[in-house]
Amino acid sequence: MIKVEEAINTILSSTSTLKTEVVDIMEALNRILGEDIYSKENIPPFNNSAMDGYAVISSCFDNFDEESGVLLNIEGNIPAGYELKVSPCKETAIRIMTGAKVPEGYDTVIPIEYTKSNNNKVMILKRARRWENVRFQGEDIKEGDLVLKKGELINPTKIGMLAALNVKYVKVAVKPKVAILATGDELINLGEELLPGKIRNINSYSLQSMLIDAGCNVEDLGIAKDNRYEIINKLKRAKECDILIISGGVSVGDYDYTKITLKEMGAEEKFWKIAVKPGKPVLFSILGNTLVFGLPGNPASTVVAFQEFVLPSIYKLQGRINKQLNKVTAVLEESIKKKPGKVHFLSGKCFLKEGRLYVKAMKKQSSGSFSSIINSNCFIVVPEEVTEIKKGEEVLIQITNEIGE
Ligand code: AMP
Ligand code: MG
Repeated sequence: MIKVEEAINTILSSTSTLKTEVVDIMEALNRILGEDIYSKENIPPFNNSAMDGYAVISSCFDNFDEESGVLLNIEGNIPAGYELKVSPCKETAIRIMTGAKVPEGYDTVIPIEYTKSNNNKVMILKRARRWENVRFQGEDIKEGDLVLKKGELINPTKIGMLAALNVKYVKVAVKPKVAILATGDELINLGEELLPGKIRNINSYSLQSMLIDAGCNVEDLGIAKDNRYEIINKLKRAKECDILIISGGVSVGDYDYTKITLKEMGAEEKFWKIAVKPGKPVLFSILGNTLVFGLPGNPASTVVAFQEFVLPSIYKLQGRINKQLNKVTAVLEESIKKKPGKVHFLSGKCFLKEGRLYVKAMKKQSSGSFSSIINSNCFIVVPEEVTEIKKGEEVLIQITNEIGE
């Protein structure tokens, strides 16, 4: 049995990083950026107004009268999208809209609320500082700035940023190819009759969904009975893939054939069994160019083992900067106890109370209980040697679902 960190290190050092491909930015959502993006332009490209109002020259306030304000001649009007060339004069104001280019020589914008206008004259009622309400050229992003980094996850706002930077096509990591196989004589699929002793196949569906969510192309090899020939036959059908996930049959039961079958097929076993709960009998081997994960079949264990051990490998294939789910701290609502020797991932529910994040472990923690995972929104990570964490202490959690549902 190896420690969690050692398992992750072994997995990461056996994983290479895949190539990149160029896609339209509208195809880039949830993909991993494959290049650094520098700005070729200033954003904003010119000094512009942050308000609807009047552009003035701040020296117009030199003799400002707090009682009556200062009266200026209106010399023109600039809507957003246009430029107005005027000879600057401190006795004049230019009517200007939000986002419009501040004319050369003018340095301050007075919001409309602080003015009164009549015919071609405007009374400025409130003094302003020089450059007030002016957004400077390059204030947000300067030409040459590194804006997005290789290895970042591309989210909707980053797609907006790519558009802002005039990037229409972008390099992203190619999607890892992952094949999945569920094993077990007891498994039947959706729509089939639930005969005595049979249960429905959950893992093919949850694994497939987690893989799609992580940006992979998935090939579902279906269900194999607990039988070496059937496992081999189903695996042979798999197209060349980066990762193969087999659920079930990795433990020490009489009909657990995953490990031996992989050996027969010539796979190089890297480790079997991790000091973790749930998910102890995780198997990791290499078959040709494919990384193979044997995950315990209990649906809750499959999910934990996938998130803790398979995801880091997928993230590395994609060249992602973060290699694991993010951890945050939360205050424990009810004390927890455990035996030493394994890292425990307890399904938990975290919630905000008076601006702080709290967490409570779900009542049912057995790896046979899938409902506890469904109702939870995080894992509480309890380190190997810790035996008790008291109510009110801080714990590390990994958020897996929405908070507040
Ligand atoms: P195993 O890892 O094969 O020993 O299976 C452990 C437990 O998980 C057993 O109760 C299996 O019936 C159950 N199990 C295995 N594979 C699946 C699956 N694909 N969907 C739902 N339950 C499963
Ligand atoms: Mg089984």
